[in-house]
Amino acid sequence: MTQTISSPDRASLPISERPVPDLVTEIPGPKARAAVAFDETWTSPSLPRAYPIVPVRGQGMAIEDADGNLFLDFAAGIAVNSTGHSHPRVIGAIKEQASELVHYSASDFYVPIYAETAKAIADIAPMSGKLRTYLGNSGTEMVEAAMKLARHATGRPYIVGFLGGFHGRTYGSVTLTASKAKYHARFNPLLPGIYHAPFGKVSDLKWFDDVLFNNLVPADEVAAIVVEPIQGEGGYIVPEDGFLEGLRELCTRHGILLVADEIQSGVGRTGKMWAIEHWGVEPDILLVAKGIASGMPLGAMVAPAKLLESWGVGAHGSTYGGNPVACAAALATIELVQNGLIDNAAARGDQAMAGLREIHERFPETVLDVRGKGLMIGVELASPQLAEDVQWACFQRGLLVLECGKQTVRLCPPLVASASDVETAVRIFGEAVADAAAHPTEVARTAAAAGALHPDGEVDG
Ligand code: PLP
Repeated sequence: MTQTISSPDRASLPISERPVPDLVTEIPGPKARAAVAFDETWTSPSLPRAYPIVPVRGQGMAIEDADGNLFLDFAAGIAVNSTGHSHPRVIGAIKEQASELVHYSASDFYVPIYAETAKAIADIAPMSGKLRTYLGNSGTEMVEAAMKLARHATGRPYIVGFLGGFHGRTYGSVTLTASKAKYHARFNPLLPGIYHAPFGKVSDLKWFDDVLFNNLVPADEVAAIVVEPIQGEGGYIVPEDGFLEGLRELCTRHGILLVADEIQSGVGRTGKMWAIEHWGVEPDILLVAKGIASGMPLGAMVAPAKLLESWGVGAHGSTYGGNPVACAAALATIELVQNGLIDNAAARGDQAMAGLREIHERFPETVLDVRGKGLMIGVELASPQLAEDVQWACFQRGLLVLECGKQTVRLCPPLVASASDVETAVRIFGEAVADAAAHPTEVARTAAAAGALHPDGEVDG
C-alpha cells in the first residue's frame, strides 16, 4: 500500500495554501492515536466510530486532523456539512447571531428568528397550501414529533416504516428503524403499533393491501407511513420509479399521512432541494435535519397548517429547539443552497457517478453496484469486509468516505465539491478498490494494526 508523505513543514501552512489531500504523517499519526486512546477511555462505547480520523479544523472540502494531515471530505460529518466546512457566509451569520442572542426558548417565548426560519423552510418545502413548521434540534426529534402529530391529528394508532429504513435512536424513531437488528437488541419493549413494509419495488406495495390491511390492521387505523425517499443508513437505496407515486396514491386512498424523512436526502443533496421531487410526489409531512444548518443542530417538521393547528398548546415543544444561532446558520445555508449548490450537486453527482461506474466496469467482481442521485452516492462492494477495506484504503490515501448498509460505501460530500475535487475522489476511490481487490488481507491487517475498527466495523447515521 502506498502513502504520500509530504514535508511536515507543510502542516503549518494555511489550509487554503495546501493541496487536498496532503498527508504529512503516517495515518493515523501520533497525535491522532493519542486522541483516540483518550477518547476511548472517556466516551460511551456505544459510539460506532468508522475509522480514526481526528478532525480539528475544516475549510471547504478539507478536514485537517490532529497531526496536520489534510483529508478530502466525502463524508461531510454524515451528510451534514452541506455548504462545506466553515463557509464564510454561514460563519458570519453564526457570529452575528451569537453576539446578539444565543438562546431564549421559542417554546415559551416569541423569538423572531425562529419564526423567520420556520417560514423559510416552509417556503422551500415540496408541498402546496398553507404550511407551518415545528423546529427542533436533530433528526430523531423530528421523527418523534411526526409520530406524535400523526397519532394526535388522525386519532389512529398505527405507523408504518420500511425494512432498511433508519430514523434515529430515541424510542419512537428506533422502533421505526429497521436497517440493522442491533438497534433493537435488548431495548424491548419498543413503541407499540409500528409495522415495517418492504421497500423499493413497485410490486412491494402489494404488501399493504395483501398483508397489512388484510391480515394485521385495518387501513383506517393507520395514521402515517414514514419513508426515506432514498434510504440512507440502510445502504443508499434508490426506489424504483413508481414506488413513491404508488405510496402517495395508497396514502390518499386510505387517509393515511405520508411522511417524507428527508433528514439525509434533503437540502439539495440529490440535485433537487428534496429527493422526493425526483418523482414529483408531495408528502403530507416533511422532516428535515442534517444539512439544513451546515452543521449547527437543527431539525424541522413542515406540515399543513390545519394539521399542526390540530394539536393543542403544550402538545409538543423543546427548550433548545430552533435555537437562534442554529436558525441563523439555516437561513444562510438555504440561501447558498438555492443559489447554486443544488445545480452543483446535480452536475458533480453526474461526474462522480460516471467515474465510479468506470471503476465498477473495471472491477465487476469487487464493485457490485453504483447508485444514487446527485451527491448521495452508494457504491456496493462484494462483501462487508471489502466495504471496510475500501473505506480504510481511502482513509489511508486521504479521502474520507463512510460505509452504510451491509456492504456499501457512501459518498456524500459537501455540496460545494468542485470538478477537480470529484476527479481526485474518484481517482483515490479507484486506487482503494484496486488495492482492496488485490490485497484484501493486507488492507484489513493494517486497519487492525492501527486499532482502527470496532469489532463489527459498522457505522450508524
Ligand atoms: N432520519 C434519517 C434518514 C437519518 O439518516 C438520520 C440520521 O442519520 C436520522 C433520521 C436521525 O437523525 P439524528 O442523528 O440527527 O437524530
